[in-house]
Amino acid sequence: MHKDDGYAEEPLPPTSVPLALRRVLGLVISGEATNRAEIARRSGLARSTVAQQVEYLVGHGILREVESRRSVRGRPPRVLTISPQAGTVVAVDIDTAASQVAIADLTRRLIAQDTVDIPIGAGPPAVLDAVSERLREMLEKHDRDPDRVREVVVGLPGPVDFEQGCAVQPTGMPGWDGYPVAEYLRERFHAPVVVDNDVNLMALGEAVQGRTEAPLLCIKISSGIGAGLITAGGDVYRGADGAAGDIGHTRALGGNNVLCVCGNVGCVGAVASHRAVLRGLGIPESSEDDLLYGTRVLAQRVADSDPAALHAVRQAATEIGEVVAVLVHMFNPRSIILAGPLSELRDDLVSAVRAVVYQRALPLATRKLTITATQLKGTSGLHGGIALATQDVFGPAGMARLLADASGGE
Ligand SMILES: [Zn+2]
Repeated sequence: MHKDDGYAEEPLPPTSVPLALRRVLGLVISGEATNRAEIARRSGLARSTVAQQVEYLVGHGILREVESRRSVRGRPPRVLTISPQAGTVVAVDIDTAASQVAIADLTRRLIAQDTVDIPIGAGPPAVLDAVSERLREMLEKHDRDPDRVREVVVGLPGPVDFEQGCAVQPTGMPGWDGYPVAEYLRERFHAPVVVDNDVNLMALGEAVQGRTEAPLLCIKISSGIGAGLITAGGDVYRGADGAAGDIGHTRALGGNNVLCVCGNVGCVGAVASHRAVLRGLGIPESSEDDLLYGTRVLAQRVADSDPAALHAVRQAATEIGEVVAVLVHMFNPRSIILAGPLSELRDDLVSAVRAVVYQRALPLATRKLTITATQLKGTSGLHGGIALATQDVFGPAGMARLLADASGGE
């Protein structure tokens, strides 16, 4: 867990959970051991102690022990896994036109996902209420105990104070600046809540679900432009204040005097975002009954090889490529993933970004570099949220909470 302070129901510090219990659970979670004999061998604990701990964990619905389907001579070995009833994690990806929500079990298996059609401009209470309501329905429908939600992870499309769990001076998000998102959802779900920048979660989703090689850089091209970084060790790199990857307001070469929402001129987000491309082509972003009107029209024009649309997309890609080339030298990623509505437009965007990066960056940095569009069809943020939540649940504090919760039922 990253945010323990303020969590009203913080049960017991990690040290109060028996070491043997943590050791046994840890070996099963990490996959290092899948049965009692392996646990004994790896932990050095007596078989009787292992049996005692396993029975406790099975009895409290945290582990499940089933007969292996592997055909072996003699008695089939009994295999230990995380019980599907051990709990649920929740991921929320809040975006400009709509929000996505998902629930998953503690093995990161997706149980259900849905879209909540509410624009971010409706303000935090309306958006968070709609999202919470939909999640309640999903938990009920899939027979998941709402009291066993272990963590909620929320992505916001703007700068996020990771420690405080809120957005900080985001643009185009009226009412969200400093709004206590984490606190609000903590009261709804009685579980720890982590709030992160949406592109950080997308990057994590690409690394975990898309199995993209790290170090990884994910670039989201949407109403603005942002980047998420995953280190070689598989962690999100947030920088000192959580602002790492906030590249939308760096100066674009062809930015001229285009005014940006931040008050500066020539920001790459103002000249090369999806929103900027739509504006340049005179396509309205949304219509009365279709929040994604602009996305659909642009996709159609590109598919029809409309010269003006193709030119606008390539022009944007070139500007983005210049910024990405700088990041390549700074960060030396193994993979770059382009995400957001522009990335779904044929190969025009990806190849134009590639062309600039390979021309600008030095051979050592691009030798093994891959630049591709996301294959996760807009779900990378949810997958990243689920991954972050399960990492926390099985971290030292999360595990202590899980075990304390289980013993509290006695
Ligand atoms: Zn700007």
